[in-house]
Amino acid sequence: MSGVQKVERKLFDDVMVPCYAPMQMIPDRGKGARIWDQDDREYIDFAGGIAVSCLGHCHPVMVDALKNQAEKLWHLSNVMTNAPALRLAKKLTEVSFAEKVFFANSGAEANEAALKLARRWAADVHGPEKSEIIAFNQGFHGRTFFTVTVGGQAAYSDGFGPKPGDVTHLPYNDIDALKAKISDRTCAVMMEPLQGEGGIVSPTPEFVKAVRELCDRHNALLIFDEVQTGNGRTGHFYAYQGLGVTPDILSTAKSLGGGIPVGAMLTTTELAQHMKVGTHGSTYGGNPLATAVAEAVVGEVSKPEVLAGVLEREKWFRESLEALNAKYGLFQEIRGKGLLLGAVLNDEWQGRARDVLVAAGEEGLMLLVAGANVVRMTPSLVITKEEVEEGMARLDRALAKLTAA
Ligand SMILES: *Cc1c(COP(=O)(O)O)cnc(C)c1O
Repeated sequence: MSGVQKVERKLFDDVMVPCYAPMQMIPDRGKGARIWDQDDREYIDFAGGIAVSCLGHCHPVMVDALKNQAEKLWHLSNVMTNAPALRLAKKLTEVSFAEKVFFANSGAEANEAALKLARRWAADVHGPEKSEIIAFNQGFHGRTFFTVTVGGQAAYSDGFGPKPGDVTHLPYNDIDALKAKISDRTCAVMMEPLQGEGGIVSPTPEFVKAVRELCDRHNALLIFDEVQTGNGRTGHFYAYQGLGVTPDILSTAKSLGGGIPVGAMLTTTELAQHMKVGTHGSTYGGNPLATAVAEAVVGEVSKPEVLAGVLEREKWFRESLEALNAKYGLFQEIRGKGLLLGAVLNDEWQGRARDVLVAAGEEGLMLLVAGANVVRMTPSLVITKEEVEEGMARLDRALAKLTAA
């Protein structure tokens, strides 16, 4: 079965734009939290396609939804609506504060829609001066030019010429800095309710509360980027539900489709009315093939037992990581929430998160990093105990080798 159409990793260097540096092995198939490469070598997957494969690989619920829809209707464009998109939108309004949904194809596109809606609302309701977007250092919102500009990493946004204007960056978790900067000119504050790419950094409860209050005081919208935290990742369907603060606009993607490309912007009816016919759009957004799969994924992940299972699995991960740390002493802290976890390297191991990832890969375990000092794990939300134990045994071997070297 595998190896039939084997390709060499060298082909990547020959034919691909070199903006990625993928691993040498080339995955061929997956099941649950396991992946096999072209040579049938098995890997335990703690990466989950960067917080996307929330039901693992090839979950029957997703495969059935895809197969059924694949034989009915794939694509229409938004000249027509379709049943899977409407059912998914209805479901998203039931599991969140939202009353209205806009479909996109990725996290960046969902955020692009969120930012454009905020700017349009401010222009319609308050006038052109209200255009400032406040966001946070180390934040990540995607790679379109607007979203990468709002993201808080100059390395990603600079070097492409003039950027969209009136974007301010402040330190995350710094109430005083926000208080000093926010004004009636502020159109929106955009933040992740737990910074993912930026190093698995949780907001303090005081900070999220203060952001909401300051937005209210200055008539600014609060945009939560839940592309990574959403769809069960933190044990709540959306992370805001565990923070006691509700945004005005929320973006969701990654785990929304469980592996099929789909994103969405969620908001209220009051705000949504500013996106009149013609103001925004997407050819593929709300495509029936993608939304049929996402509908099945959301139906599964929103089950109370699946959400409760995320917190149970967080315990398995934390206990195993603490035990490994007692043995090897690499980490100063295990942080994050649910199955969005980061193991922060201690002073002696600064800058070596990638070394841990490579060592784990050699032992048949897939990990992620979040910056140079944080080993990140975003596995399937339904990963089994056996898969976690096998993965941790491989991490044990990897750390033994790494610390012996
Ligand atoms: C991954 C991510 C994005 C970008 O999503 P894409 O689907 O890659 O465009 C945006 N925001 C956050 C918080 C993310 O983690």
